Amino acid sequence: MTTFAEALHARFGAAARRDEPLARYTSFRIGGPADFLVVARSPTDIIDAVALAEEHGVPWIVLGRGSNVLIDDAGIRGLVIRNDATAFTIDPASGVVAAESGARMPSLGAQSARAGLHGLEWAVGIPGSVGGAVVMNAGAHGGCVADVLESAELLDGGRRIVLPAAAFAHAYRTSRLQRERHRVVLSARFRLAPGDPAEALARVREYRRHRQETQPNDPGAGSIFRNPPGHAAGALIDQAGLKGARRGNALISPRHANFIVNAGGASAEDVRALIQLAREEVARRFGIVLETEVELIGPTGRMSLA
Ligand SMILES: Cc1cc2nc3c(=O)[nH]c(=O)nc-3n(C[C@H](O)[C@H](O)[C@H](O)COP(=O)(O)OP(=O)(O)OC[C@H]3O[C@@H](n4cnc5c(N)ncnc54)[C@H](O)[C@@H]3O)c2cc1C
Repeated sequence: MTTFAEALHARFGAAARRDEPLARYTSFRIGGPADFLVVARSPTDIIDAVALAEEHGVPWIVLGRGSNVLIDDAGIRGLVIRNDATAFTIDPASGVVAAESGARMPSLGAQSARAGLHGLEWAVGIPGSVGGAVVMNAGAHGGCVADVLESAELLDGGRRIVLPAAAFAHAYRTSRLQRERHRVVLSARFRLAPGDPAEALARVREYRRHRQETQPNDPGAGSIFRNPPGHAAGALIDQAGLKGARRGNALISPRHANFIVNAGGASAEDVRALIQLAREEVARRFGIVLETEVELIGPTGRMSLA
């Protein structure tokens, strides 16, 4: 009988790797090896990789740009499907942007603005993929995926289905898809408003400038915690005196307290220690329990904090 490794190699050739360190696939630059990794360059690649894993009883997980995950130092057992299906089209007349799920949000944001479409300018600051953004309901500067998503195509139990945006129950930085892990976003359709390219591009420039001025440049994963109702997580961590706190090679950014950065060679353990520290101090001082926005992924899948 063909082993999983053989079947994967037969289908994907050099795009299939064994014991592949994951740090290079995450914005944190942290993460031990995946038993198997496949770089998927089309929705069909994703479908085939999932089918092979299921056939062989191998656990699998899809990663977009890895910009909202902290992967354990021990890595991930099973198959990681890195989504590099990046094609997209923009139709300035209808305002429709149709993208494969590995397309990069900053490219969509910049190119749709250049085409004179309004509604995705905020995406220039989000270093994630379309799939990750649909799952997380990514957003910034008052806009988010839910405002402009028309529909998405999913892989669902081996079938391709298209669902309208309303099916995803998007809310603040989450969606149903975050709980329905057997489903994979294959592509998405956004509907934007035709308008003046100069205005859209001015917003793009303003959003980029704002980020450069307020966010750290070191590797990280954006906001670590969700904002609790009525509060900004960063302000609470700052008021708890934790800006600049360090564990190993990770630190709470002196620039923005809701960012933890990898100062060079940090481990997932270093980052987790800072996450715990921030949670404990904020709970002790303000009675508020912070929830992570970043997903913690361990050897056997997603993990939650105690
Ligand atoms: C510097 C920086 C700034 C950021 N600023 C913002 C911000 O302003 N607003 C904001 O909302 N976020 C922000 N983020 C966080 C992050 O970019 C977003 O959450 C983004 O949407 C994650 O996309 P991704 O492709 O990187 O997802 P990943 O990190 O690769 O994955 C996140 C989760 O989604 C799942 N997933 C990924 N692709 C798919 C798919 N195709 N189908 C099903 N599940 C999938 C993964 O399995 C994982 O569970 C920032 C991150 C960084 C590093």
